[in-house]
Amino acid sequence: MNAPAHPFVWLDSREQRLSDPYGEQAPVLRAHLERVTPVLRWQDAARRAAPWVQAARENPPPFWAMERLLREFPISSSEGLALMRLAEALLRVPDAQTAMALTADQLGRADFESTGGDPVARLASTALGLSSRLLGRLEPGLFSRLGARVVVAAAVRAMQLLGRQFVLGQSMGEAMRRAERMRHQGQRFSYDMLGEGARTDADALRHWASYEQALQTMSGIDTLPCEHRDGISIKLSALHPRYEDAQHRRVMHELLPRLWSLCERAARANVNLTIDAEEVDRLELSVQVLEALLLRLASAHPQWRGLGLAVQAYQSRAGELVQELIAMARRHRMRLMVRLVKGAYWDYEIKRAQELGLAGYAVYTHKPHTDLSYLGCAQLLLAAPDVIYPQFAGHNAGTIAAVLQMAQCMGRSAQAGDFELQRLHGMGEAVFREVLRERVPCRVYAPVGAHRDLLAYLVRRLLENGANSSFVHQMADPAVAMDRLLASPLRVDPAERLRAPLALFNDRRNSAGLDLTVAAQREPLERAWRQVHPPEVACASAEQAPLTVQRAHAAWPAWAAVPVQERAAVLLRAADALQDSLPEFCALLVRQGRKTWPDALAEVREAVDFLRYYAQQAQCLMAPQTLPGPTGEHNLWRLRPRGVWVCISPWNFPLAIFLGQMAAALVTGNAVVAKPAEQTPGVALRAVELLHQAGVPSGVLHMLHGPGQSVGAALVTAAQVAGVVFTGSTEVARHIQRALAAKDGPIVPLIAETGGINAMVVDSSALLEQVCDAVVQSAFRSAGQRCSALRVLMVHEAIADPLIAMIAGAAGELQVGDPSQWATDVGPLIDEPAHGRVSQALRSLDASARLLWPVQGTVEAAHCQSPVAYEISDLSQVRHEIFGPVLQVMRWGPGCALKDEIAVIEAINSLGFGLTLGLQTRIDVRARALADAAQVGNVYVNRNMIGAVVGVQPFGGQGLSGTGPKAGGPHYLPRFCTEQTISTNTSAAGGNVALLSQIDD
Ligand SMILES: Cc1cc2nc3c(=O)[nH]c(=O)nc-3n(C[C@H](O)[C@H](O)[C@H](O)COP(=O)(O)OP(=O)(O)OC[C@H]3O[C@@H](n4cnc5c(N)ncnc54)[C@H](O)[C@@H]3O)c2cc1C
Repeated sequence: MNAPAHPFVWLDSREQRLSDPYGEQAPVLRAHLERVTPVLRWQDAARRAAPWVQAARENPPPFWAMERLLREFPISSSEGLALMRLAEALLRVPDAQTAMALTADQLGRADFESTGGDPVARLASTALGLSSRLLGRLEPGLFSRLGARVVVAAAVRAMQLLGRQFVLGQSMGEAMRRAERMRHQGQRFSYDMLGEGARTDADALRHWASYEQALQTMSGIDTLPCEHRDGISIKLSALHPRYEDAQHRRVMHELLPRLWSLCERAARANVNLTIDAEEVDRLELSVQVLEALLLRLASAHPQWRGLGLAVQAYQSRAGELVQELIAMARRHRMRLMVRLVKGAYWDYEIKRAQELGLAGYAVYTHKPHTDLSYLGCAQLLLAAPDVIYPQFAGHNAGTIAAVLQMAQCMGRSAQAGDFELQRLHGMGEAVFREVLRERVPCRVYAPVGAHRDLLAYLVRRLLENGANSSFVHQMADPAVAMDRLLASPLRVDPAERLRAPLALFNDRRNSAGLDLTVAAQREPLERAWRQVHPPEVACASAEQAPLTVQRAHAAWPAWAAVPVQERAAVLLRAADALQDSLPEFCALLVRQGRKTWPDALAEVREAVDFLRYYAQQAQCLMAPQTLPGPTGEHNLWRLRPRGVWVCISPWNFPLAIFLGQMAAALVTGNAVVAKPAEQTPGVALRAVELLHQAGVPSGVLHMLHGPGQSVGAALVTAAQVAGVVFTGSTEVARHIQRALAAKDGPIVPLIAETGGINAMVVDSSALLEQVCDAVVQSAFRSAGQRCSALRVLMVHEAIADPLIAMIAGAAGELQVGDPSQWATDVGPLIDEPAHGRVSQALRSLDASARLLWPVQGTVEAAHCQSPVAYEISDLSQVRHEIFGPVLQVMRWGPGCALKDEIAVIEAINSLGFGLTLGLQTRIDVRARALADAAQVGNVYVNRNMIGAVVGVQPFGGQGLSGTGPKAGGPHYLPRFCTEQTISTNTSAAGGNVALLSQIDD
């Protein structure tokens, strides 16, 4: 089906709004408190809710499988974890062998015993218990076809039972028939078509068609007002593969027309359509989309009152957003339905803020604060009856009772149609059975879809039901007393429960990042882009090299004598200065390193982290240690600097690797002569200036810019060089090694970090969407110009076709071109020679392998290469690293040359490289076994395989990929040092004073 095309103009009036989303939360909470206290006495709400809870506990609904199972097997236990892993993966695994391995892995370590209580819980846990007991009885070799199949069938059945609790029907027809049977006491439904966010346009069109069809099925049934009728809930991420802030032009031109067609259909049928709330970084975009819709609806369908948006109360911006929605609705004279939820992505938001090094969390970190925010938002919504139809969603009896109390106090009546409550299908039945006695209308959010599409949703519900902080979880536990369950959230607690993102590490400050989805945070970068240009750097000659090394050598002793604390303080000052100059360095990296903005930002943060990490490490490692020994002797062990280090770094991380090498050498008391990559001398010069300004004496740190063959080679062979640290190609590392070996005098150590033919091994338990994201990021982002980048995807034959199709679709959605544009995902290759090398590699692949998707037309920016992939049949064909967005794909499995995952790892090992490896599997023992068998430095499981974080994922490989030690790891600094022990005979001057005085004691 083709999507309709409507020309929409993007509205940029919202750009400057909400400029500081991570501001202080306490004033926002106090404002909520001021809104709520005049209209709510919490004791009244608690008194109203207590009998509901009592009744629900005494008479749980028949389908209480999930709550019971989770109480019996908490998600923190091995059984709970097994339950979640199986729920997430088992139903989608296409081949029996992998399904068996997954089941054996998860149930093998769990002990499910049949619960008492309700039939479904009993059935599910019996199935799982039976399975795991069967597993116990089957001897390892005997997890034979018949036995194993029975076990898997039982586990599948158990998962289906769990799934049934949350899905109203596998098709709209089935769901609507079931809804009719449940339509008592005024229950209404909002159908949700299950499925992961779209990765390809084909996915998006499929989702769009299913929404269209759902609306078609619902149209023309009755003539009730919109709010009394059923509706649908949609996810904008399902309607477009790039529903992201950076792509807002495409969102407005491509997604909006699809959404408009759905709205038109809903408006004509007079059913309601609500846009679900997703991740916080998409909020701004959904508000822009909503406003564009309202603008158009106001003239095309002014009578329609069914457009809605979900608002998440866990966001500290929630109150501001609600006010914005009210103002927007008034501006366009349209009524909005606003579904107030607490929010389902809390764990994701916390992780994102920590990973990006944001100033604060966008969500509350204290559960009662979310509850208070919910009530504050509820007050705002109830106070705007002219333009808002509030829909209060949730299962917390206390929150529900509080909303009803507030509404009563504010003169709003649910019975009169002023608002409604909402719950999820399969949740909160018992409480709502009681609430509905008060004749409050309730809408049920009703997922519709096949088992395969259910999984992500099911896991969300498992987490929600299993979390200790969750109301439904606590209600299912009779040990939780009523007053604790219904404790008042009407207070602002000062203590934050989670470390702030910048305080993530115990011993050093995390580097601060920016949220590039917020316009105000992009602004300093844009300003820097206009102002900053890389400085000119004069080229040195090879003759200067020995002289410079001599000068460094002369300055070295004084620097070596500086206490390590002072040298560390210099690095910390440099880190702060770099952090303060983040926009300038980002702009330099975009201009000279041709990086995209997110890559540039990540690199500056990595450089800051290197400085802080090595400063902290040096102070620990270089402190002399007294070693135990016989009495009358003192034994001291310490690390000492070696002398002058030559640091040679690449263009692909011209700041982070360059600074990291220098910082390690300097903080351990060495002098440095650095040779940056020829392509990026301006970035390097600014980094050296930064270190000098922070306090590194000019005689101790020198930079020589020039060609590797001349200047680099002359540096390596200069007398008085005490060590070489190099990051670059294996070939050049070999030249350096040979040059050092040929030198007379001391044996000079070499630290080399080189490339890799990095593979990702995917089995059929992996989630396609997750693999697709990881592949696209690892293989194509940064135009594949990272040594950690994915080069060979090894995929199980059972999922190869759909996975390749998804990757092809997702790769086709990437924007290739000018890196200074926010929308660009894949920038250019660094220069013409690099482009030439990649083109040549592609020509040879054209001859030997199968091109997997047609290469996009020419890209305008110079030296750009669109992402491309080839299928190969023999891994030994892959001999060289192709430094560009080029992926090679090979299948494995019983029908292929490589029969199983161990054969795959052996084949990868035989290539001789050993840098990074990706593993995508839900079988934990398999992931562990493959990591054990792999001869690589960095293994990444169920995630992308790039972006190692200093001190968190120390980075570096083995074999053809480098000598180690790992950069950003605990063993890096000692390699820059020599060791010395000092053994002193303390009894030499006539007697053992220490021993004698000890005995006297
Ligand atoms: C009809 C309906 C539609 C929904 N649509 C959406 C949607 O579009 N988008 C969406 O994100 N969610 C949606 N949800 C899910 C909803 O967010 C959760 O069901 C809801 O948060 C559970 O709240 P509760 O009041 O039932 O439970 P409670 O147990 O009172 O609250 C649990 C919630 O508190 C928050 N929380 C948990 N721990 C903390 C903490 N440490 N600090 C701060 N806050 C914390 C989380 O939001 C968690 O979900 C929807 C729910 C319903 C019923």
